[in-house]
Order: sequence, then structure tokens, then C-alpha cells
Amino acid sequence: MTNSEFFKQANLIGGTWTAADNGASFDVINPADGEVIGQVPKSGVAETRKAIEAAEAAFGDFRRTTANERAAWLRKMHDVMLDNQAELAQILTMEQGKPLAEANGEIAIGAAYLLWFAEEARRIYGEIVPSPWKDKKVMVNRYPVGVVAAITPWNFPSSMLARKIGPAIAAGCTSVVKPASQTPYSALAWGVIAEKAGLPTGVINILTGSAGEIGGEITSNPLVKKLTFTGSTGVGKILIKQAAETVKKVSMELGGNAPFIVFDDADIDRSIAGAIASKYRNSGQTCVCTNRFFVQAGIYDQFVEKFNTAVNALKVGDGTGEGVQQGPLIDMAAVEKVEELLTDATNTGAKVVAGGKRHSLGGSFFEPTVVTGVKPEMRIAKEEIFGPVSAVIKFDTENQVLAMANDSEYGLACYCYTKDLGRAFRMTDQLEYGLVGINEGIITTPEAPFGGMKESGLGSEGGNRGIDEYLNTQYACIGGLEHT
Ligand code: ADP
Repeated sequence: MTNSEFFKQANLIGGTWTAADNGASFDVINPADGEVIGQVPKSGVAETRKAIEAAEAAFGDFRRTTANERAAWLRKMHDVMLDNQAELAQILTMEQGKPLAEANGEIAIGAAYLLWFAEEARRIYGEIVPSPWKDKKVMVNRYPVGVVAAITPWNFPSSMLARKIGPAIAAGCTSVVKPASQTPYSALAWGVIAEKAGLPTGVINILTGSAGEIGGEITSNPLVKKLTFTGSTGVGKILIKQAAETVKKVSMELGGNAPFIVFDDADIDRSIAGAIASKYRNSGQTCVCTNRFFVQAGIYDQFVEKFNTAVNALKVGDGTGEGVQQGPLIDMAAVEKVEELLTDATNTGAKVVAGGKRHSLGGSFFEPTVVTGVKPEMRIAKEEIFGPVSAVIKFDTENQVLAMANDSEYGLACYCYTKDLGRAFRMTDQLEYGLVGINEGIITTPEAPFGGMKESGLGSEGGNRGIDEYLNTQYACIGGLEHT
């Protein structure tokens, strides 16, 4: 894959692929075999400043392009992605570890976001509001905010950029992107996608390197008007504080602690399929992955038995292997975090009923795991596991499970399985989560808003509101219109 034209090992700044100023670089590792894939620039403040200035310079012309022009570029980028889906998926799996089928899916959904925002570009309507004055018009205009900075995580190294770059381009903004250091190649590939689509230079700038230095410059530089971040709540809080100094618009997609609730009246097979998809996708490393399973007493034993069977049947391996359903974790730190939470749970009374340890494949592979007898106060039920471990909690009543499910500082995704329509609506009304799956374990789609409540984030990506985050609203009062 390192021969691919989409495989780049340089920053893209103002249309030029460049090394770090001092030539420094760092290694990127394939999590499936621990081998070094290559090196990318270790950029800092100086390179970030150049990227921001390049984005600012490009903004002057880009903000004046028509919605149709921007839609056409987005459609071309969409086509480039789909025409090269297999190649882009290979790069993704090589650096991230997820099974190729999931990587292909990620490229497809990223392309779908571009198409959605290509369409939304043409619907950035202003308003003429009925005026309270006879001689004045009340006009509302919407303009691109300016330079956008995007910081993205390693779990969806391609599609997270689509959700940020897509609306930025649609709105007429230019961007500076910093991907996670574990997975820079899928982000750098976006530079090639943009070039192939003929996007003007400087509209997308991408740089890799020191998170602290790049983040510090991005948040303090007054030329950056908006910061969009996907990552942990801890880093999100730091960035919100840093961005306060120059009062930037911020949108934050942060951590989650998703409950997955199965009532006695649920379709059990459907709930098992949803549970597997929502927990073990990407080895449990997504912010919408289930973190806590709540299963009602009457169906508990049956659920655990069927769930264990399904979990034990999951095929673990190198993401490029035929039929592999679970790849490695991103690195050894992730494995250690999972082990720490598992040990804490078993030391305080939980029981491992499937998996439970490092996989015989070695490296950062971990067995698909199920633990029962979990109590809400255990660390495994409070912290983001971000690994292939299901923590199962038994409950009795609707009110009890609602209280437990909402007892979290997070509020991103939740899932609820029941055949009772009244209960489905009651739960939807009361679950304090930005994303609710009723009898569904995977619900993300470009047409719907994606975003969290509480400490899971600010703002939403996708849907018909996604573009708002990239626009300023202006009220213009047009006076002197007296009739003579
Ligand atoms: P994860 O737990 O998924 O690695 P992080 O929040 O640590 O989540 O990382 C998400 C993104 O934020 C990555 O691109 C990472 O490099 C970046 N990041 C981490 N720390 C900082 C920071 N202090 N300032 C700016 N970006 C940061």
C-alpha cells in the first residue's frame, strides 16, 4: 500500500507537500504486526502557523465561490473516494487495524457525507423577515466563518474528516486539519483526494505532529475562527478552555458511556445482533460503542447465553484477513487500559464468562470478552472501555434502568430494545442522550444530526444542522425605503 498515490508522508500546506521545518518525523506503526509503516512530519508551532496562513490566504477567493461550484468539488471528491475505495480502505486498515469490510464501509460513509454536504451547500438560505418598520427591510445573511481547524481521532481516521471538511467546503470555509498521530495516512490521503478533485490549493491543509504544539497554535491563533474536535472529553475540555481566549466557535464530539438496554419483551435475536454490532465494531473503539449492557431479569440468562455464543464465534485477526470481524486494538496502551478495567471489575465481584485476556495472536489483539455481575459503581461501568469487553448488569424495572442509564456525565449514544411501543417512546423521552437507537445498534447516517448531550459534546455533525456550525449569521437592516 505504500506504493499507492494516496499514501503521502508529508504535510500539505498551501498546495505544497512539505516536511517539518527541521526535518523531524515520527514512525507510524501497523497495529496488526507492530511493523513500522513509515514516517510522517513531526510538525510544531511554525508549520501550524504556515498552514493557518495558507488557509486564510485561500479563504479570500474561496468564500466568493458559488454554492454550485463548491457542490461540484464535493461531488468530485465523493467520486474520487468511491473510485479508489479499495485502495483507501487498505491504507486505513494498515494503520488502524479494523477489518477491511469496516474500512470499506468507512470510506463509503465518508463519501456519503461529502455528497450530503454537496447538496446542503445549495440550501444555505438567508431570510427576509417581516419588518416591524414600513421603511426598512430586515434581512438575515449567512456567511462562512473563515478558517476552520479540525483535530481528529484514530478510530475513524477517514470519515471523521469527511464530517468536518465536507461542511467546511460546503459553507465556503478553508481548513487546517491535524489527524491523530497513530493514523495520519488516511488524513493525508484527503490531500490527494482534494487535488484529484481540483479543489483550489490552500482550501485543505493537513499537518501531522505534536498534538500539544499544533493544538496550542490552532486555539490561540486569531485567524482560526472555528475549532472542530473529535476525541476524548479530557482533551476536549482543554481545547475549549484554550479556544476561549480568542472566542472561537467550537464543536466537540467527545466521549461516551453508551447504555444498551434489553427489556424482557425484546426480540432477543435482534438484540444480540445489535449488541454485537454496537459493541465489537472496530474492536469496541468507537465513542458510540456500548459500554454498559443492562438486561432485565426475566431475559437475563437467555441473553447472556446467546450473547456468549455470538461473541465466541467472532473471528479475530489481521484486518486484511478473509472474514475477520475483529482486528487488534490501536496500541498496547489500549490493551493495558482494558486489562486494568477488567481486573478492577473481577476484583470487585464481576465474572468473566467469555474471553478475558490478550489474544493468542499476540501484540495488541484482545479476546472478545463478556463480564457479568457488573455493578454500576465499578470502574468498568463508569469509564469508557474502548475495547472489546461487554459489561453486563442485571435490572428489574423500567425506572431503575432509566436512573442507572442516565447516571453518567456522558450523553452520546444509547440503545434500547423493546417491543412495547409506549415504553419505546417513554425511554426515548427520558434517556439523556444525543443519539438513541430503538431496536437498532448502528444508527449513524449523514442525513441525521450526530452529537452528544452533557459532557459528550457541543454541536452536531451531519443532518440539516451540520452546516450551521460553519456559518455566521448576520442581520442587515436596509433602511431608507420610504414610499414617496
Ligand atoms: P483518544 O483517546 O481517542 O486518543 P485524544 O483526545 O487523546 O483521544 O485524541 C484525539 C485527537 O486529539 C488526536 O488527534 C490527538 O493527537 C489530539 N490531541 C491530544 N491531546 C491534544 C492537545 N493537548 N491539544 C490538541 N490536540 C490534542
